[in-house]
Amino acid sequence: MINAAPARVERLRVKLRGAVQGVGFRPTVYRLATELSLGGWVQNSNDGLVMEVEGGTEKLTQFLEFLERERPRAAVLISQEVLRAEPKGSKKFEILPSLEAEPKSVSVQADMATCGACLSEIKNPEDRRFEYAFTNCTGCGPRYTILHDIPYDRANTTMRDFVMCQACRLEYNSPGDRRFHSQPNACPECGPRVWIEIQARREDGSPFAFAAAVLARGEILALKGIGGFQLLVDARNETAVERLRQRKRREAKPFAVLMPSLEMTRQFCSVSLDEEELLQSPEAPIVLLRPRTDQKLAPGVAKASPYIGVMLPYSPLHHLLTKHFRHPLVATSGNLSEEPIATDNEEAQQKLFAVADAFLLHNRPIERPCDDSVARVSRGETQLIRRARGYAPLPVVVPRSLPPVLAVGGHMKNTVAIASGRELFLSQHIGDLDTLESRRAFEHGIEDLCRLHRFKPEMVACDLHPDYASARWAMESGLPVVRIQHHHAHVAACAAENGLESDYLGVAWDGTGYGLDGTIWGGEFLLVRDDRFERIAHLRPFRLPGGEAAIRQCWRPAASLLFETFGAKDMVDTIPRAKVLPPILERDVNAPLTSSVGRLFDAVAFLAGIAEENQFEGQAAMSLEYAIGDMDSKGAYRFELTGGVADWSGLIADVCSDRRKGIAASEIAARFHNALANWIVDVSKSVSVKDIVLSGGVFQNAYLSERVVGLLEPRGFRVFTHLRVPPNDGGIALGQAVLAGRYTS
Ligand code: ZN
Ligand code: ZN
Ligand code: FE
Repeated sequence: MINAAPARVERLRVKLRGAVQGVGFRPTVYRLATELSLGGWVQNSNDGLVMEVEGGTEKLTQFLEFLERERPRAAVLISQEVLRAEPKGSKKFEILPSLEAEPKSVSVQADMATCGACLSEIKNPEDRRFEYAFTNCTGCGPRYTILHDIPYDRANTTMRDFVMCQACRLEYNSPGDRRFHSQPNACPECGPRVWIEIQARREDGSPFAFAAAVLARGEILALKGIGGFQLLVDARNETAVERLRQRKRREAKPFAVLMPSLEMTRQFCSVSLDEEELLQSPEAPIVLLRPRTDQKLAPGVAKASPYIGVMLPYSPLHHLLTKHFRHPLVATSGNLSEEPIATDNEEAQQKLFAVADAFLLHNRPIERPCDDSVARVSRGETQLIRRARGYAPLPVVVPRSLPPVLAVGGHMKNTVAIASGRELFLSQHIGDLDTLESRRAFEHGIEDLCRLHRFKPEMVACDLHPDYASARWAMESGLPVVRIQHHHAHVAACAAENGLESDYLGVAWDGTGYGLDGTIWGGEFLLVRDDRFERIAHLRPFRLPGGEAAIRQCWRPAASLLFETFGAKDMVDTIPRAKVLPPILERDVNAPLTSSVGRLFDAVAFLAGIAEENQFEGQAAMSLEYAIGDMDSKGAYRFELTGGVADWSGLIADVCSDRRKGIAASEIAARFHNALANWIVDVSKSVSVKDIVLSGGVFQNAYLSERVVGLLEPRGFRVFTHLRVPPNDGGIALGQAVLAGRYTS
C-alpha cells in the first residue's frame, strides 16, 4: 500500500468588489469555509470584501466554485481578484471586525424589499416579530437610506442608537443565522417603534388600525416610509383623491398606487409576467401598467394619463398598513408639488401640516431622501424612468477608466454622478432644480455622494445651457469645468451603460436641450467618434410661438407647423385660437426655433385630436403612443430628407388630410410612429457604423423603441437602449462624466 502524499496546503487571498457589504456575504463565506474545514478569515474593508482561505488545493477550488454559485441574491459583483499567499497554518475560520483601510471607493448597497422569510415572520402570531414594522435580514431591508458612512456597520447607520437585545444579538453573532451581521437587525424589544398622531394627538393602540380608520374616512395619511414621507389616500375615493391634489397643489400628474397584493393589481391593470416579476423584485419600483377598462379607481388618480404607476408593499410598514386597509392606496411623495421629499418627523409635520390629517411616524431616522423608483417593461427588459430607491447608488461600470470627475446633470429630473476608475456612481433622483429647496437638495446630494465615496473631484462636467442651475453651480465651483452638449451627453450615457465607447450613431430625441447653435435641439442624429460628435441629421427647425407656453399647450407647435406648411389662413381655419399668432411667427418675437421631436409629438397628438395639453411632461406624447393600442399598422407617413434635414411638412399635410377623412386616431398615431422609425432606419443606412444608440426622453416610448429594433436588427445593426439609467434627463450626468473624462485623457 502506498501512502497518499499529504494534500498540498495553499492559501488564497480573495478580494470582491461591488455591492458586497450588508448582503449576507460574510456569513455565506463563513459557512462555506467551515463546511470545507478551511482556515482563514473574512473582513469588510473600505475596498470591498476581503478574505483569506487556507487548506488543500482541491478544497480551495471547491470553495471558489461554491462562492460563485451561492452568492447572496442582493450582491452585485464588479470584480473578483484571487491571489496566492503564504500559508500560515490557520485551521479556524473567523469573521474579523471591519477594517477602515485607506479610503477608496466601495459600493454601497441599495435598499431591498422585504424578503419572503421576513414576511412570514411578520404574519405569524407565534413569532417574536409578529407585526413588527422593522423586521429585516441580510437578504432584505434598508441600506442606502440608513447609511451614514462606510464601511457598512451598525455604528455607521441610523440604527446606531438602538442597542440590540439578547435575542437579536444572538442572531447577529450566529454565523448560521439569516441575521448574522445583519446591521439593521431589530425586534419589538430593542428596535424602532411606530406610532400615529391624528390631529397632532398621539393615539395609543395599534397605529396601523388607526391608520386604516383614517384612510377609510377618506382622510390623508402621511407615512414615514423608507426613503422619505409618502402621502396616502383611498384610491377609490374621488373626493379624497381630489382633496389630496388640491392640498398638495398637484393638478394633473398621475398618482402612483400602492396595491395590497399582486392579485388585486390584476383586478385593476393588465400585468405581463415580466411586469409581475419586476413588481415583486427586491428593487420593488413603481411599474407603469395599462389600466383595465373595467377598473374602478377614482378618475382623479391617473387623470388623463394612459397608464397607472403601481407598486406592491416593499417594507414591513407597507405590508402592515395594507394588511389593515386592503384596498388600493394613492401613494405619492410627501412634499408640496416640485419640492424635495420630506424625511424628518418635525420637518414633515411642519411642511405637511396643512396636507395630512394624520401622521404615521417612527423613530428610525432616514439618512438621505430616496423617492420610489419608476420603471416600465419594454421588450422584456426593465427600463428605469426614475432611478432612486432600490437602484441608487449601485455603480454603472463604464468601458474605460476615468479621472475623478463630478458631473452635475441637467436641470429637470436632476441626478449627479461621480466617476472613480471604471465605476460611475449615479445619485438617486434629485428632481427639477426650479426651487431654492431643490437646489439645496442638489448641493447636498453632491456633498453626500462625494463624502460617502471619499471622493475629491478634480473637474466638473455640466450642461452647455447657460441658465441651468446645475451649470451655474459648476461655473462657481472653482474647479475646471467641462461643458457638454445636452444630446451628446444623452447618447454617451446610453453608450456607456451598454459598454460602448465610440463609433456609433446616437439618436438623441427629447423635448429640450441647448444646441451648439443656441437653438433648442431635440431631434438629433449624432455620429460619435472618440470624444467628438457630428450632427449628421436633424428635424427641420420650427418656431415655438409663446416660448414656454408652447411646451404646455399643444395647439401652439401644431399651429406653427400648419403656418409653415399651409400659411396663416389654413392655420386659423384649423385652429381658430391661433389667429393671434401670425405677428409672432412672422416677426419672430418670443418664438424660439427648435428641432425637437418631443414638440413634434405634441403637435401631431393635437392634430390627431388626441391631446390638448401637457399638464405634466410627456403627457401628449404618451397619449399618442397609447392611442396606437394593439393596432398593427404597416402604414407610415413620410419625412422628406434633404441634406440631413428631415422636413415634416408632407407629414403634417398627411395627418390633417387623414383626420379630415375620418381615419381613426389609432391609425394616425401608428403611421406617425412608423414614420419616425423609418427615418432612423434611413439615417442608419447612410452611415458606416453599425451600432445605433437611442437616448432622450422620447425613447421612453416603448412602441417606437421596439419598432426601431425590429427594423434595424434584421439589417445587421446593433441597437442599444437604456436599461438601468433613465433615457430622460435623469441619465445625462452619466454621459457628462464619461465625456469629460475622455476630453481630458
Ligand atoms: Zn428578510
Ligand atoms: Zn431585539
Ligand atoms: Fe434631454
